[in-house]
Amino acid sequence: MTARLQTTLRGPEAYALARTVLDQMEAVGVWPTPLNFELWVHAAGEPEGLLAKEIQRLVATSEPFSEATAEMLAAEFLPRGRLTEEIRDAGRVLDRELSSVSHAIAKAHETQTAYGQTLDQAATSMQAVEDDHGFQTIVSGLSSATRHVRAENETLEKKLEVSTREVLRLREHLELVRREAMTDALTNLANRKAFDEQLARACETAQSDGRALTLAVLDIDHFKRFNDTWGHQTGDQVLRYVGSVLGRLASHPRFAARYGGEEFAVIFPHESVGLVESALEAMRSEIASRALRRRSTNDDLGAVTLSAGFAVRRPDETAADLLERADEALYAAKRAGRNRTACAERLTKAA
Ligand code: GH3
Ligand code: MG
Ligand code: MG
Repeated sequence: MTARLQTTLRGPEAYALARTVLDQMEAVGVWPTPLNFELWVHAAGEPEGLLAKEIQRLVATSEPFSEATAEMLAAEFLPRGRLTEEIRDAGRVLDRELSSVSHAIAKAHETQTAYGQTLDQAATSMQAVEDDHGFQTIVSGLSSATRHVRAENETLEKKLEVSTREVLRLREHLELVRREAMTDALTNLANRKAFDEQLARACETAQSDGRALTLAVLDIDHFKRFNDTWGHQTGDQVLRYVGSVLGRLASHPRFAARYGGEEFAVIFPHESVGLVESALEAMRSEIASRALRRRSTNDDLGAVTLSAGFAVRRPDETAADLLERADEALYAAKRAGRNRTACAERLTKAA
């Protein structure tokens, strides 16, 4: 969120801005969910910005503004800001804890030094002591100085305890934020960013250990038609379903991601072409054989199908080239009639 928008939202114009935003949303039939509201507020804060333009474009298509669309916009336009804000907050907390601890340590150090001096003085005074009374005075001075040091140490200990707890909490929170930034909100699969990183790592590993690496891309067939018939909300429901099947059949060390829109990708490390092919067939046939029902009305939606293409990494091949060949195989599967799997290596042979 821009600093200017932050200020506006905490100032006298805030309610008027919120009302305007709500009216705009109502006028175009968009539900005031927290995420939609956030998107609209951002757009209102920067009417000439990319987000505002994209929202205008989407609204103009008069397609329903679905949860997935909101998530996609949020992923593109909001989280970076949200993430930096989270990181800035974390920095502030760390800063506060560190300065509190270093302050306590400095204070404890001072007290220890003073205590050392008190002991030295007591030793000197003890040599010159003449009677019981003088002796008692020295001892009571020493015991009060000791109590003071002990109290100081206890304070330091408590501060350290609080700070340790706070820093641990912070670490957990940042881990959560990191995971969220790598997850597709609709399907809970890894998102494009996580996928790109994982594919780059997998290519590096394959390059150094010489073992097999296969990449598959999968795309739902005629999904536009499906959306047009049943609406985006139902389309989202299907995306979630497909995501759950892929996630289940591509568990570790396989890696499934939502690549974007209605496209998915699966990384298969160390598997033979036969194994990869039968895994993809299992995904495809499970999805194609399930009769889907619309949750809201129980309408029979028939089945959705998907097409898949895969490519086996060649020595020295980059992630981008591997992805391109898998994509070509996917389009070959589409051209050949959809609801099937094609292998890039076989295309090359056939050509
Ligand atoms: P093909 O078989 O050639 O892949 O046809 P298609 O209709 O699936 O492909 P096309 O690329 O023409 O359309 C993709 C559609 O996917 C268009 C878009 O509305 C829909 N879509 C993309 N992302 C989402 C989403 O997050 N939610 C919903 N409901 N639909 C989405
Ligand atoms: Mg498609
Ligand atoms: Mg597509």
